[in-house]
Amino acid sequence: MTDHTTIPATPAAELDAYLRELGGCSDGHCIIIKPIGMHTNGGCRCARDEMKMRRVVFAYRRYRSAMERADV
Ligand SMILES: [Zn+2]
Repeated sequence: MTDHTTIPATPAAELDAYLRELGGCSDGHCIIIKPIGMHTNGGCRCARDEMKMRRVVFAYRRYRSAMERADV
């Protein structure tokens, strides 16, 4: 019996997991991650958080280079 761990299998899954961990601002139009269930409608506040945006850019750059290496 093989016991698969929860390590994301694809670059897209890895990116998704990272953004989910980073967390959005729970706004319905959040640019990082769309909230599930209850959300606010005041507009995404993530872009004002410099550290958060740096992490988002880092995650997307890593995703892009992973996709380039994947040769798909
Ligand atoms: Zn947001």
